[in-house]
Amino acid sequence: MERFWLKSYPPGVPADVDVDAYTSIGAMFDRSVEKYSQKAAFVHMGTTLSYAELDDLSKAFGAFLQGELKLETGVRIALMMPNILQYPIALLGALRSGYTVVNCSILYTARELEWQLADSGAEAIVVLENFASIVQQVLPKTSIKHVITTQLGDLLGFAKGIAVNFLVKHIKRLVPAWRIAHAISFSTALRKGAKQQGRAIAVAPNDVALLQYTGGTTGTPKGATLTHRNIIANLQQHHAQCRSRLQEGQDIVLTAIPLFHIYALTVSCLLGLKIGATNVLVTDPRDVKGLIGELRRRPFTVFPGVNALFKALVNCSDLAKLDLSSLRLVAVGGAPLEEKVARKWKAITGSTIIEAYGLTEASPVVTCNPMENAEFNGSCGLPIPSTEIAIRDEAGVDLPIGQAGELCVRGPQIMRGYWNRPSETAAAMTADGFFRTGDIATIDECGFVRIVDRKKDMINVSGLKVYPGEVEAVAMMHPDVVEAGVVGVPDERSGEAVKIVVVARDPSLKTADVMAHCRMRLAAFKVPRHVEFRRELPKTPLGKILRRALREGAPK
Ligand code: AMP
Repeated sequence: MERFWLKSYPPGVPADVDVDAYTSIGAMFDRSVEKYSQKAAFVHMGTTLSYAELDDLSKAFGAFLQGELKLETGVRIALMMPNILQYPIALLGALRSGYTVVNCSILYTARELEWQLADSGAEAIVVLENFASIVQQVLPKTSIKHVITTQLGDLLGFAKGIAVNFLVKHIKRLVPAWRIAHAISFSTALRKGAKQQGRAIAVAPNDVALLQYTGGTTGTPKGATLTHRNIIANLQQHHAQCRSRLQEGQDIVLTAIPLFHIYALTVSCLLGLKIGATNVLVTDPRDVKGLIGELRRRPFTVFPGVNALFKALVNCSDLAKLDLSSLRLVAVGGAPLEEKVARKWKAITGSTIIEAYGLTEASPVVTCNPMENAEFNGSCGLPIPSTEIAIRDEAGVDLPIGQAGELCVRGPQIMRGYWNRPSETAAAMTADGFFRTGDIATIDECGFVRIVDRKKDMINVSGLKVYPGEVEAVAMMHPDVVEAGVVGVPDERSGEAVKIVVVARDPSLKTADVMAHCRMRLAAFKVPRHVEFRRELPKTPLGKILRRALREGAPK
C-alpha cells in the first residue's frame, strides 16, 4: 500500500510556523502587556480589565499561591468558574508562577468533580460560590487543601477595598480545619498577594501548563497534559491560519463558549491576548436573548462558537435586526457545522462561518478551512501549519486519498501524554509519533478533511462529549437496572442526544426513575433524553453490546 502523509496549506499561509516564538504562555502575555498596556483585555458585565490590570492582578494571585499558600512549583490548581474576569486572572496567575491549571466544567456533579480532582491531585481550587457546595461535598476524597471562593462582585470589592465573602465562613464551619489549611476569598487572596514579592519562576516550554480532562477514545476521563510549548505552538499555528481576518490590537472577541474547554481557552482567550484583542465574556451561552443583547452592544470582529450556538441564534428572529457588518471571523468547531445553519447565518448576517476541527489532545486545533473564498463545503478544512495528517486503516497502514480511515495527527500541538496513564498514552500514539484521534475521516487531493464517522463510542451533544460507558455504569448503579446500553441518536437542537436502553429487574421501573437517578450523578448534558425498555440487549457472540441495533429503536 502506498504510504503518504499530507502537508498542505492555503495561499498566504506558511507551511511551518515558529512554534518556539515564546518560552511560555506567561512570556507571550508579557509581550502583549508591553504593547497594549492600557487596552481592555477582558470585559464582563460592564467591568473592564486592562492588560496592565490583568498583569498586576495575575501577578498578585501567583504571589499568593507562592507566598501565602506556599505551594511548590508544578502543583495543580483547579479552576471551576463560568466565563468571568476571575478566570483569566487565576489562569495567568497560576501559569506564570509555574503551576499547572486543571480546568473543571461547571456542569459537573459531585461524582464527576471528585474523579477529576482526585485524579489530578490538585491542591487548590478557585471556585465561584455557586458551585462551592459541590466542592465541599468532595473535599475529603481529594487532595485539595486550599479553597479560594469567589463571587461575581469580587473584583468590584477588590477595587473598592471591600472583602465580603460569607461562603468562606460557611466552608470553614462545615469542613474540618485539618482538611483545609486555607479557605479564603479571591479578593482577599489578591490583596494578600499584592503585598508579596512573587518568586520569579523560569517556566520552561516543556512544563505542563494544563491538565485538560477528556474521555479520549476509551471514555475513561483522563488529563491530557498540555505543555506551554503545545499551547504556544497551537496559538502560532492557528494565528498563521487566520491572520488575514485578524487586526492586531483592534479585535473585539465574543467569548460565549466556556473557558474551561480547551477550544475557548486557546482560540478565544489566549489567541485574543496574543493579538491584543478585547475579549468580552458571556457567562451563559444558552441565554440567546442575552447573547443578542451583547451582539447589539459592540462591533464584534471575532466570534468563535459551536453549531448549536449558531443554530439557536439563526432561529431567533432578533438576529436579523442586528448590524453585524463588523464581524470578520466567525469560527465553528467541536462538532460538525450543519449546512442549513451555515446557509441561514450567511443569509441573515452576510458573514461566513468557518469550520475547524480539533480535540483536547491537540491543544486543540488540527484543521481549519481557508480564510479566502470561504463558503460552506462540508469539510473541516486543511491541516493548519506545522501539522501532518494521515488517514490509516485498523492495521495502521496509510490509506489512499478519498478512502475513509482513522484520522491521525502529528505536530507540536499534540499533548505529551495522558496524566499518569502510560498504557493509555501508548495506545493513543503510533510508533512514528502520530496521535490516533478516534475520528474516521477522508482527505481529498487538495488536503480537505471530512469527518465521516467515529471509531470511539462518543456522543457529541452540542460539542459536549458523552461516553456511553460512563452513562451505562451510572444507570447500572440503580438497583432495578439489570443492564443498560447507551447510544447517540440524531437530535434537531443538539446534533446528537443520549439514548439509553434499559433491561429492568422490576417491571414497574419508569423512564422518570431512570432519568432522576442519572440526573443526580451526571452533568445535565449526559442525562439520557430518550429511555427505552427492552427484555434484553442485542449483543455480539462475544457479549459486546451492538450499539447500532440500539440506535435503530425497539425490535418488532
Ligand atoms: P474535545 O476533546 O471535547 O474537543 O472533542 C473533540 C472531538 O470533537 C473530536 O474528536 C471530534 O469527534 C469532535 N469534533 C471537533 N470538531 C469537529 C468538527 N468540525 N466536525 C466534526 N466533529 C468534530
